[in-house]
Amino acid sequence: MSNINTEKVTSVHHWNDTLFSFTCTRDVSSRFINGQFVMIGLEVDGRPLMRAYSIVSANYEEELEFYSIKVQNGPLTSRLQHLKVGDEILVSKKATGTLVQDNLVDGKRLYLFATGTGLAPFMSIIKDPEVYERYEHVILIHGVREVSELGYHDFITNELPNNEFFGDIVREKLIYYPTVTREAFRNQGRLTDLIKSGKLTQDIGMPDFGPEHDRVLICGSPAMLAESSQMLNDMGFKESPKMGVPGDYAIERAFVEK
Ligand SMILES: Cc1cc2nc3c(=O)[nH]c(=O)nc-3n(C[C@H](O)[C@H](O)[C@H](O)COP(=O)(O)OP(=O)(O)OC[C@H]3O[C@@H](n4cnc5c(N)ncnc54)[C@H](O)[C@@H]3O)c2cc1C
Repeated sequence: MSNINTEKVTSVHHWNDTLFSFTCTRDVSSRFINGQFVMIGLEVDGRPLMRAYSIVSANYEEELEFYSIKVQNGPLTSRLQHLKVGDEILVSKKATGTLVQDNLVDGKRLYLFATGTGLAPFMSIIKDPEVYERYEHVILIHGVREVSELGYHDFITNELPNNEFFGDIVREKLIYYPTVTREAFRNQGRLTDLIKSGKLTQDIGMPDFGPEHDRVLICGSPAMLAESSQMLNDMGFKESPKMGVPGDYAIERAFVEK
């Protein structure tokens, strides 16, 4: 039996020249925990060309959604960016990943640190009502270079807080902090600088950030992960050592630098 399902693309949205997202059908056998990733791809020269992708949808949603970079000469994304409604897409049956609730010990606040497409797994997490039951606040920080890279900004600020089933808890507990480094915007600067300087907690009205009450999931570029984990280690946070063994924070790469 193949470990890959063939799904059909149901919508495509281009955010700008470098980012797009799409939805596809979801096989009835598909199971995942919010925050996990699967392998997705296309058949190229008769063989599957697959890459890791975090799932943007929450596990109760009918379709699967993905948020993708367009790498000019990228083997997969140079093709994937031309997806159209009705096209076929390959999706692995097995989901996995470290950005799940079981990898964190209990805490008061959940911080989600994302840069670029590292936002994807956190879209799934902020749509999970159980996450809000576990924490007093869920704080999503999305760092990008340009304003046009703030994918899902309007969904997070306008749609999610008006969700008919759990919009009230989102309005009470979700704090969204988009920040831009290379253009004028209401929040500016790099994520780690904003934390180290205390500006972030001051802006959002939260107590000082620290390992006693705060838990962190991190997804971004290899450089961002290295910087964030260095900062957290210096502050006394303990990393989840492996899947299923909880810590104060867990990381996952949004991509691997070659
Ligand atoms: C666990 C995991 C989850 C991932 N989830 C996502 C996701 O949700 N969305 C997504 O777009 N990608 C994600 N990726 C990256 C993805 O697997 C591919 O690398 C990406 O789709 C590009 O594929 P490619 O074949 O076109 O180029 P590749 O040969 O895979 O990559 C070429 C180069 O492009 C750059 N690059 C690749 N991906 C990104 C990215 N996302 N942002 C910035 N630069 C990048 C890197 O420099 C890389 O070396 C994830 C990777 C991992 C390991």
